[in-house]
Amino acid sequence: MNDNPSHKLIIISAPSGAGKTSIVKHLLQQDLKLAFSISVTSRPMRPGEVDKKDYYFYTVEEFKAKLEAGEFLEWQEVYANQYYGTLKSEIERIWATGHHVLFDVDVLGGINIKKYYGDKALSIFIKPPSPEVLAQRLAGRGTETPESLAKRLAKADYELSFEDQFDKVVVNDNLQVAQEETIQLIRDFLQQE
Ligand code: ADP
Ligand code: 5GP
Repeated sequence: MNDNPSHKLIIISAPSGAGKTSIVKHLLQQDLKLAFSISVTSRPMRPGEVDKKDYYFYTVEEFKAKLEAGEFLEWQEVYANQYYGTLKSEIERIWATGHHVLFDVDVLGGINIKKYYGDKALSIFIKPPSPEVLAQRLAGRGTETPESLAKRLAKADYELSFEDQFDKVVVNDNLQVAQEETIQLIRDFLQQE
């Protein structure tokens, strides 16, 4: 593990549709010296997504080869046959540029990264105002097939049960308020020695 006290990590986790991407994109525009940890995924690219910016898009075979080579800090089969993982090299790459690492990872991945890095990491759980609102937002985003929407909703109740394992919880009712609250939590954390 890296012992440079100025190297920190911010973990944003939530069920799919809770607003992680909307919050993470906003955080990257602030003067917080954050850089996004680009994960590897085996899911298909969505319209508008860019390889090596939103994700490193791999086939399942490529993903498994990296896994066997021990290159992942953490990984999850978030949905059946859809693998997501954080490469160890990603954290070193970002720290070398003098930035803190910002993660958008699933709930179990977030808990694992926090366990590994302890006080160097701040873990934030983004909570939807209700399961019904979560379902509306996910459907309204228009990115999911009926099948992938059903998969995400089926997992949401399970993921919502992990909120107390995070350092902080932000309810995303009004997006702007949730964004401001998250920025303040991060500023407070980064100011601590
Ligand atoms: P995630 O990355 O957690 O899957 P997104 O950021 O993609 O979630 O948000 C899911 C959908 O809900 C998007 O269409 C987004 O524009 C919308 N959304 C996010 N936050 C809010 C909010 N507070 N109020 C209304 N819609 C929201
Ligand atoms: P999506 O397919 O909507 O982009 O992401 C689905 C879920 O996978 C989200 O909860 C997202 O945070 C999570 N995810 C993205 N990258 C990683 C990763 O590297 N590790 C883990 N554990 N989850 C990830």
